[in-house]
Amino acid sequence: MATTDNILHVALVGNPNCGKSTLFNALTGLNQKTGNFPGVTVEKHSGKVRIHAPQAKAARTVNFIDLPGTYSLFPKSPDEEETLLALLQREQSEAPDLVLLVADASNLKRSLLLATQVIDAGLPVVMALNMVDLLEESGFNVNVQALSEALGVPVFALSAREKKGLTQLKHYLAAVQPEPVKESAFQKNLLHTVLPQLDRKVSDDLQKQASAGVPVDVQADTLERYGSIEKNIKSFITNPKPLKALGLTHRIDAVVTHPLSGLLLFLTVMFFIFQAIFSWSEAPMNLIDEAFAQLSDTLRAQLPPGPFSDLLSEGIVPGLGGIVIFIPQIAILFGCIAILEDSGYMARVSFILDKLLRPFGINGKSVIPLISGVACAVPAIMSARTIKHSRERLLTIFITPLMSCSARLPVYTLLIAIAVPEEGAGTFNTRGLILMALYLLGFAAALLTALLMKLWVKSRERSTFIMELPVYRLPQWRVVLFTMYEKAKIFVFDAGKIIVAISIVLWVLASYSLPGRFEALEQKYSTAQVVQQLGAEEAAAQLEAEKLRNSFAGMLGRAIEPVIEPLGFDWKIGIALITSFAAREVFVGTMATIYSAGDADENSLALRQKMMIDTHHHSGRKLFDFPTSLGLMLFYAFAMQCMSTMAVVKRETGTWKWPLLQFVWFGALAWIAAFVAQLAF
Ligand code: GDP
Repeated sequence: MATTDNILHVALVGNPNCGKSTLFNALTGLNQKTGNFPGVTVEKHSGKVRIHAPQAKAARTVNFIDLPGTYSLFPKSPDEEETLLALLQREQSEAPDLVLLVADASNLKRSLLLATQVIDAGLPVVMALNMVDLLEESGFNVNVQALSEALGVPVFALSAREKKGLTQLKHYLAAVQPEPVKESAFQKNLLHTVLPQLDRKVSDDLQKQASAGVPVDVQADTLERYGSIEKNIKSFITNPKPLKALGLTHRIDAVVTHPLSGLLLFLTVMFFIFQAIFSWSEAPMNLIDEAFAQLSDTLRAQLPPGPFSDLLSEGIVPGLGGIVIFIPQIAILFGCIAILEDSGYMARVSFILDKLLRPFGINGKSVIPLISGVACAVPAIMSARTIKHSRERLLTIFITPLMSCSARLPVYTLLIAIAVPEEGAGTFNTRGLILMALYLLGFAAALLTALLMKLWVKSRERSTFIMELPVYRLPQWRVVLFTMYEKAKIFVFDAGKIIVAISIVLWVLASYSLPGRFEALEQKYSTAQVVQQLGAEEAAAQLEAEKLRNSFAGMLGRAIEPVIEPLGFDWKIGIALITSFAAREVFVGTMATIYSAGDADENSLALRQKMMIDTHHHSGRKLFDFPTSLGLMLFYAFAMQCMSTMAVVKRETGTWKWPLLQFVWFGALAWIAAFVAQLAF
């Protein structure tokens, strides 16, 4: 029965990859809106369209709701919980009047498991049997009539991708008067089994139904359903011709899923993706960098000088720049991932690496986030969304920042150049070895952390890996482009807010001090005597250094000195540890300011020399001697010093708990590693 607003609410439900989004797009066109399910971060897409039936006088508005993909009504991830609740909670707005079950004809058994559950739950159902083009291409025939009779619901065979067979479905939807949802025994038992595991409030009505049910043995229920599907499947799908497409897929898979050649191929693919993230993003990133620097300069020149101009040109604009600069990397990474997923290759990757990673509590799909983390943890963490199992996803997100990202490279380069002498023509280059060791240590720390977390984070889901490999197909460029756009948007609008806020705080810390301090310094450095003695440029550089020393950030640097002194660090390094929170490579710029080295970069000789001769103000030892420099590199290798990463972890996990825990745990690792370096060398 259509609801009182006379809109028919139709929920699309189906297995991941069954073509649900493609069908949703084909049905709704551009009339879509994206939101979140109430109170959770799971995305919700819906779209209203007017549909005309040939024989009906009036058209009707249908609201299509695209629910997260799920294999079963017994949820194993927050996405799947959302689907269950969206289907069964009656008193919500947009409660579905009808379920449009999207089944993948090329993978019918698995689709039917979900289908029979939804039907048994008493929901009014119509089935869209999608991907019939694939099925027919591989030489199969499908008997729609038999399927419809066996399930007791209407079935429409169609191809969402090729937009074939959609009209019949639309005509049906324009005219159908769905039965109201029935309270079946299976629904009650399902709720009885599932609700105690959900850690959120559900409606009283669902609670009441749940209390009337008895527990379901999920495994037995699944086996029984599969058993009967197996028995009947031959009457739904027949195979008069030999398989062409499947044959090709099998031949490709012999190489791609082979333990050795598969692994080699995967490493090659990753190598190219990695190259792409670095090299393709370089030009746009430089452009963005320059554009924002230009904007800052223009603002500074145009606005009357004062705190507002400074806030805008040194705090807000660079903060925004710090977000926009990630867009190229995020877009490229997700473009590549979309191609791998859409073509069917990703399923193979997960398959071959799954065994290796499972002992650490992560799975085959964790590989992409981990490897991408070497470029940048921000897009890498977002890519963990493809992991369904919630503990495995959380662990992957948690350990990814331990992979040494590209922002750490300038820090390593500067410190290695200072502390490790260049060697002649030996076979091994010590500098190279140390650099490699830092990367490997990060990876080892990531695996170790995963192991510990696995013991600690409880999981109520069983991680099953029933993987049916989909057939290969050409990726759809529209899907690829849309994924790139959507991921960049999510990052800019969600994580971006936090990043701008923290940038402003960091800017205030580094540019302000107690009243009167900066004025006194400015006076000191503007006297004719000082300017004459030092030269105007040197005087200005020294003034900047003194200002930073006396700023709130400088005070914080001093305040944390007792904590970092056992590591051989002093307050100057303390300041850099704090400012690095904006982005780790800021370490180099901070050192340049502190040592009055002007606009030095990590390859600047002047900066290196000044750092090399500096001594620790307590011990009198060289500040950047080998143990301290090594310790500092280790500190950067482990510590969670990146506000963008923390913002993204908060966005992806929905709580500050995990980023804060990362901050503490990675900080402890960093401190201990740097301390060991002091003792050992
Ligand atoms: P979802 O995970 O269920 O939303 O699946 P998508 O809509 O993203 O589709 C998964 C893949 O199947 C994409 O590569 C689609 O292009 C492809 N696909 C969807 N519908 C069809 C179809 O009818 N025929 C074929 N050959 N491919 C399809």
